[in-house]
Amino acid sequence: MAIATLPENFPTRLFINGEFTDAADKRTYNSINPATEEVIAPIAMAGKADLEAAISAAEAAFPAWAAMPAAKRSNLIWKVGEEISKRRDAFAALEAADAGKPIRENASIDVPMAADHFKYFAGVLRGLQGETIPVNDNLFVYTLREPLGIVAGITPWNFPLLMAARKIAPALAAGNCVILKPANPTPLTALLLAECIQAAKIPPGVVSVLPGKGSEVGQQIVEHPKIAAISFTGSTGVGVKMVRDAAPTLKKLTMELGGKSPNVIFADAELDSAIKGAQAAIFYNKGEVCTAGSRLFVEDKVHDEVVEKLGSRTAKLAGGNPLDDETRYGPQNNAEQFKTTMDYIAKGKAEGARLVAGGERMGDKGYFVKPTVFADVKPEMAIAREEIFGPVLAVQKFSEFDELMAKANGSEYGLAAGVWTRDVSKAHRYAKAIKAGAVWVNCYNWYDSAVPYGGYKQSGYGREMGLQGLMAMTQQKSVWVQL
Ligand code: NAD
Repeated sequence: MAIATLPENFPTRLFINGEFTDAADKRTYNSINPATEEVIAPIAMAGKADLEAAISAAEAAFPAWAAMPAAKRSNLIWKVGEEISKRRDAFAALEAADAGKPIRENASIDVPMAADHFKYFAGVLRGLQGETIPVNDNLFVYTLREPLGIVAGITPWNFPLLMAARKIAPALAAGNCVILKPANPTPLTALLLAECIQAAKIPPGVVSVLPGKGSEVGQQIVEHPKIAAISFTGSTGVGVKMVRDAAPTLKKLTMELGGKSPNVIFADAELDSAIKGAQAAIFYNKGEVCTAGSRLFVEDKVHDEVVEKLGSRTAKLAGGNPLDDETRYGPQNNAEQFKTTMDYIAKGKAEGARLVAGGERMGDKGYFVKPTVFADVKPEMAIAREEIFGPVLAVQKFSEFDELMAKANGSEYGLAAGVWTRDVSKAHRYAKAIKAGAVWVNCYNWYDSAVPYGGYKQSGYGREMGLQGLMAMTQQKSVWVQL
């Protein structure tokens, strides 16, 4: 079934110098459909020789690409967005088969947003400009914004297309050449994106897509002296290693890392939407969202009611084949993530948390896990502290604002946070006090190409999207002229 989802002539090979090509050593690996555990297709796997070829192509392409008039570069990048939109259905189906993400969500969220990343950065790049700085009468000082050179994007498997777009679009807009290494389990939509880049007539060499292992081609990217910067999205563990290994070549790094985000329901919240929102905050994309609201804090006065309603709503959340239009909840992305999630559920039970919903595998085929809610969770339990990256919600009770803030901020992570209340002052007090890069008030998981995004603490540093995301792909030069 899954193989049939690959469009005819689908590129399953590396994209280097504007062409699809086998790996130099002809190695391949299998991409797996997590709903069926079947092989979708063998995919070319990049190694050192392929990375060198991509770097040579980028070096050759860079001068003309960087010097291209902004209007022309903007048009080409805008076209990539249009080519993505033209292939909406193919992208949605591939992401469903490869990543276990419901097809309807892919078509309505991931694909339009990926197209918008290209269109947003195509637009704002026209505003990239320098400044003049008054120093003294005998000097004329101005600044230039210049690209970094060859940059790399290294992405995770949870939103494969979106993450690829988020890395490539701002890097191109600033005039860089880009090498993208998608996550091993989910290479397909990155390769279809390469087809869009080809169709949009982005010059050969400007973008390369190299599926492969993190420990091989990923590590080689990190250590390569000709790569000026890496925009990384992934786990904190890999991010920390990357910072260390990139130090000798002084790469510029953007680190979008893990999270354990607090979501708070105050007693004065509009409870039905808060409960619905809390459910979506953790179970959207089967909990495989870096900003997932995985720690829910509920004010004691409404705690029992919220837990009861959340439990019964969650028990009704049925899983299904991500390729079916009706499916709202898919399998975990891959076998390893399935195991990690099941292990945390076992830990939650063993540590004495109260199981309110789920707590076991769903069916016996595919990597499905029942959406799981634990109540009476203590801050020291593993399910309250560690990122699970799966559909497991840990609910805790609070009674005072200061006690809440101590608990909510008592995490090594600081990616995102949510709060549900009708009291506008309380919402702003929370937004100010919480240590997180994004705060949602009476909503959760909103994103926009124009809004900067990134973490506090162990959730990383640097910002993607928005003007900051564009500036991160540039460097600034000051020019002094004696008059
Ligand atoms: P991961 O860290 O295991 O892998 C991410 C990428 O890094 C993959 O492409 C992988 O092949 C590569 N990689 C692994 N080892 C490498 C190495 N030594 N050198 C270079 N590259 C290497 O993460 P994952 O399991 O793919 O994704 C899940 C993680 O990503 C979670 O922790 C999640 O929170 C995080 N995430 C963060 C954000 C964010 O915006 N902050 C968004 C999505 C996911």
